[in-house]
Amino acid sequence: MTQSKRKIVIVGGGITGLAAAYRAQEKINNEQLDADITIIEANHRLGGKIQTVVKDGFVIERGPDSFLERKKSMGRLIKDVGLDDKLVPNATGQAFILVNDKLHPMPGGAIMGIPTQIRPFLITDLISLTGKLRAAGDFVLPKSNHQQDQSLGTFFRRRLGNEVVENLIEPLLSGIYAGDIDQISLQSTFPQYGKLEQDHKSLIAGMKKTSPAAKRKPGDKKQSMFLTLSSGLESLVVKLETLLSDCEILKGTKVESISRGERYTLTLNSGAEIEADSVIFTVPHFTAGAVFSESGLMNQIEEVPATSVATVAMAFDQGDVEDILDGTGFVVSRNSDYTITACTWTHRKWPHTVPDGKVLLRCYVGRAGDETVVDLSDDQIEKIVIDDLNKIIKVKNTPEFTIVTRWKKAMPQYTVGHRERMADVRAGLEKSYPGVYLAGASYDGIGLPDCIDQGEAAAYKALNYIQQ
Ligand code: FAD
Repeated sequence: MTQSKRKIVIVGGGITGLAAAYRAQEKINNEQLDADITIIEANHRLGGKIQTVVKDGFVIERGPDSFLERKKSMGRLIKDVGLDDKLVPNATGQAFILVNDKLHPMPGGAIMGIPTQIRPFLITDLISLTGKLRAAGDFVLPKSNHQQDQSLGTFFRRRLGNEVVENLIEPLLSGIYAGDIDQISLQSTFPQYGKLEQDHKSLIAGMKKTSPAAKRKPGDKKQSMFLTLSSGLESLVVKLETLLSDCEILKGTKVESISRGERYTLTLNSGAEIEADSVIFTVPHFTAGAVFSESGLMNQIEEVPATSVATVAMAFDQGDVEDILDGTGFVVSRNSDYTITACTWTHRKWPHTVPDGKVLLRCYVGRAGDETVVDLSDDQIEKIVIDDLNKIIKVKNTPEFTIVTRWKKAMPQYTVGHRERMADVRAGLEKSYPGVYLAGASYDGIGLPDCIDQGEAAAYKALNYIQQ
């Protein structure tokens, strides 16, 4: 009897699932493997959190707007699909931190809020003299003997003191994770900082020695760190969908459960069943938890908190907004009495996305412990954002248009111990569901390149598995 074609099912068509499908299809075609791929996506569109609105000459990102250039997988994927001529770096400029109703320039040389140059740190009024002296303690404090995971807050407070954490580090990290830094795991987010402490004793000295950005001299031109696509990030999704011509793509279809027999059987929301030899789940952890509820395999990570946020993009005529400082935007310290958590002056940071004579402000609301705002109506959210902005700039007219996008439970919080819990879950999967893999934002990194890395790695594991 001839064996039927082997099938890999990818559950979820966000960037993780699409990267997995693209690399699996590439390898199947290059090596003429006898295998099929099916993508199952709950929504009627692919892309997950990547969504671009192109309107009246604006290119507006509802979710992610760019990616870190130094993490190579996204640039590589973009090049491989032939969109590299659309890559654009961010315009560099001064970034600010809002503390005590005032926009303070980010001190030169601060990397993720960690000071690496003495002079700009000495003259900033963002930190008091006492706070600066406390941060200097980093040069003499012994390294921690934490063999185990610790929170970002515990780590940075110990090395640099509370003030640097509250006024510099927390607002920046919160901008990435929308989380509570006293809960988020160092090991699962920035293990390199823990290693610097262990290797160099001082975090600042370690950063100065190892970070290319820290080696820049005062006055050197600031380098851009982020890239985007001039056609919007969703154009990558559209291109991938076109290129995935050998894959079956089922949209508007949810996977509800999985069972193991000779092959895996996935039950869909329609009641229909699909068989697979290997399955890659790229859905959020709480969805994976529900799919595996009978086995209880995901219990350890099912309850990982995930923060809800909303992005609020507001387009104005240039004359309608005054007093915007020369720069690219700001993040807000938690101690400030503001609802917005960050604001990008998009027309400055990404000028190609905004027509001449217009201003585009893109604000964030919602962070761990402060998420109820996300459930308000669009009009209420817009009013709150404009009231906040009016404390620091002058908004003289209502926006020409506003796009509010709610992202419920969208930012997974890798709390302390996340890595160990993931290792346990993966070991359980390998034992009870061999050939089933987890990849994506809930598991090993939330940035777009991290998701692509995970999707690609899962694709190669699935292909290896079905060939055994
Ligand atoms: P998702 O995009 O969530 O895709 C998962 C897919 O699974 C979805 O399409 C969903 O519909 C589908 N699904 C769910 N349940 C089922 C089911 N039962 N059956 C089938 N399908 C299902 N990262 C950056 O690098 N740069 C940024 O600038 C940036 N900004 C961000 C801004 C916001 C507002 C947000 C929310 C995130 C941002 N991120 C950013 C993070 C990044 O966008 C995400 O981590 C990444 O897009 C997640 O991709 P994913 O494929 O893992 O998950």
